[in-house]
Amino acid sequence: MAGREFCAFLIEEQEGRAVASRRNLTTEALPDGDVLVRVAFSSLNYKDALAVTGRGKVVRRYPMIPGVDLAGTVEESTVPDFKAGDQVVVTGWGLGERHWGGYAQFARVKADWLLPLPEGMSLKHAMSFGTAGLTAMLSIMALEEHGLSSDEKRPVVVTGAGGGVGSMGVAILSRKSYCVAASTGRPQLHEYLRQLGASQLLDRQELASDLGKPLESERWGGAIDTVGGKTLAGLLRGMAYGTSVAACGLAGGAEFSTTVFPFILRGVNLLGIESVMCPQRRRAAAWNELKQIPSSLVEMMTTVVPLSEILPWCDRILAGQVRGRVVVDVWA
Ligand code: NDP
Repeated sequence: MAGREFCAFLIEEQEGRAVASRRNLTTEALPDGDVLVRVAFSSLNYKDALAVTGRGKVVRRYPMIPGVDLAGTVEESTVPDFKAGDQVVVTGWGLGERHWGGYAQFARVKADWLLPLPEGMSLKHAMSFGTAGLTAMLSIMALEEHGLSSDEKRPVVVTGAGGGVGSMGVAILSRKSYCVAASTGRPQLHEYLRQLGASQLLDRQELASDLGKPLESERWGGAIDTVGGKTLAGLLRGMAYGTSVAACGLAGGAEFSTTVFPFILRGVNLLGIESVMCPQRRRAAAWNELKQIPSSLVEMMTTVVPLSEILPWCDRILAGQVRGRVVVDVWA
């Protein structure tokens, strides 16, 4: 079949810099794979912003179509598990890093990266969750597997709460009836975070300030940390005995300096969360749980942008100015 022409957001390396532009390509130019997907939506994540601006070493080969996730409809398939017309989602697996990703109207991917679109979810709704929703849900699953339960009366902290993973974390935890303490550097988001279900608001500095003590009072019953750096060290000092921190991000820095006291005197668990290579069975379980989150909450945290506006939104995300989730409509 002749190749189809489509529009893509491509980044190329020119004189050591990442240069982005909108381009018309044909499906023949797409990489090898079992399934050709007509992409409907992708999303804008912190990692995508690093890739597009070239400010982080995310892209492993150029030219690259960024977009670490996508939702769309199968156009052609060489495998029996997926047929033309099936609606699917893909997150991770090197999309937008090693393999052309979601910022294009078509993508060709391996069949074993695909999950069927969860029942009752639209393609747009799926990308409102996207990598951020999956990561927040994987974090909560890990916390619950390590003992967090609805008996916990102390607050569960979410850091970087105004961002994508953070907003999702607040909404899901509160839906599960946990008492949520949302940490943000933006007081203007307090009302939004309350609407997502936060019952306590913390100023970002409260966790990041080092008071010179290796341990503080046992304040927190669990935590999702999207910020890293001093914030993660501060969180660990205030964790209650036997509780866990799900560490998934580094928006505030990759360095990590603390003492062993939270671990050896409080039995605190530090759980690493990784959504890119996470096994398909666990992803499917997480997506199944995401179905329970009301679409009104998801709508509230979502902004939809066209391919032509990706660049300014990348700058905003890296400046910590984006609220919630940004969904990319690749046909707008
Ligand atoms: P966002 O940009 O949407 O959110 C990050 C939030 O962190 C901001 O909204 C802001 O929240 C806070 N923040 C930003 N800069 C700083 C700073 N310098 N110091 C302290 N806080 C800051 O990003 P995402 O939610 O998409 O991703 C968050 C992190 O999680 C990133 O590091 C990303 O790479 C990582 N991630 C990891 C995944 C995994 O599989 N482990 C998957 C997805 C993301 P506020 O203004 O409310 O304080």
